[in-house]
Amino acid sequence: MDNICKRINELSEKYRDYTAGNLSKLVRIKSLSTREKYVQLELKRQMEEAGFDEVFIDGLGNVIGRIGQGKKVLAIDGHMDTVDLGELQNWSFEPLDGVIKDGFVHGRGSVDQKGGPAAFVTAGRILKELGFDKKLTIYFIGSVIEEDCDGLCWKYIVEEDKIRPDTVILTEPTNLNLYRGHRGRMEMHVHFYGRSSHGSAPERGVNAIYMASRAALEVEKLNERLAYDEFLGKGSITISEIISKSPSLCAVSDYARIHLDRRLTAGETKETAVKEIEEMLRGINAKVDLLTFSEKAYTGLEYGMDKYYPTWTVPEEHKAVQDGVTAFRNLFGKDPAIGKWTFSTNGIMTCGTYGIPTIGFGPGNEVLAHSPDEKVPVSDLVTASAFYAAYAYEAAK
Ligand SMILES: [Zn+2]
Repeated sequence: MDNICKRINELSEKYRDYTAGNLSKLVRIKSLSTREKYVQLELKRQMEEAGFDEVFIDGLGNVIGRIGQGKKVLAIDGHMDTVDLGELQNWSFEPLDGVIKDGFVHGRGSVDQKGGPAAFVTAGRILKELGFDKKLTIYFIGSVIEEDCDGLCWKYIVEEDKIRPDTVILTEPTNLNLYRGHRGRMEMHVHFYGRSSHGSAPERGVNAIYMASRAALEVEKLNERLAYDEFLGKGSITISEIISKSPSLCAVSDYARIHLDRRLTAGETKETAVKEIEEMLRGINAKVDLLTFSEKAYTGLEYGMDKYYPTWTVPEEHKAVQDGVTAFRNLFGKDPAIGKWTFSTNGIMTCGTYGIPTIGFGPGNEVLAHSPDEKVPVSDLVTASAFYAAYAYEAAK
């Protein structure tokens, strides 16, 4: 193993410019959610150039490259869509030029999260060059629509592509730490049904805005008493929107709706979160709705799911995590720091929904995700490409 890791380190170093160059090409192709077509074609080309055994694009538009053949399956995932650029004046460089300078690849998506796929293409190339022949199938997946609906791509991969890995590595930015979970989330609407009356005689009606306002203040209190978990932190809830209707601006409002953004910690589920709200609304003419997501992918396929993104954690002692610790230690002679993401990832589907042991390891600092001046250190890309290759050897054991 020491010998293999030495070779992996040499090759990841040798491919430093190649990896950075591939990332730069990916950054130069703008790829908002559901509009990933051209970046996917480029990623597919890169996988083919790297000598993958098979590369295809599935019905939702995910690029899937395979190396190796074995009953055991490892998937390495990175989403290829990015958020938009935001205010251009907040950037001190061109966000879509993919400039490589001063040891960084610059631009939108360099951290969140095309750096991961650029690094895993190199990992694939390294494995091919080393003649990787362990009994393991490795799928390298450039996934779609994550920014708009995390996990949707994995629902498709498991249920339609029929790929159900034994382990998943998410390549979202971890600053080269090893992550093993994050809080879940869900979005809900609460509808309030009042009764309108003439605005000159409000006492004859039931004002839906007052109903919603009282509930809003209850939501604020609910947030204070939500569960806390040592590893994941506290559950939270906030109102992100309130809308109302009435037959006229001289009438009592007869309908209001609040939009709730709920973050779920350990032990909190869709069922418990809905029940809390329903209890809060007891005796009030109101209804809770869980939202659904449905969009057309760039392939033309319409696909969706509930906007419920379950919490997930993998125990530190689990083999999936420990394989990462061993791979890191063998490569770099020290232990990785273990942690969690603040944001949400495809892990809500792989682990949160399907129970597939999932870990995170990726180049770049998550604080730069969705921010101007996004850039990733080239040295992070080198480290990540070595890590993914070494992890494959551990996972095969
Ligand atoms: Zn992301």
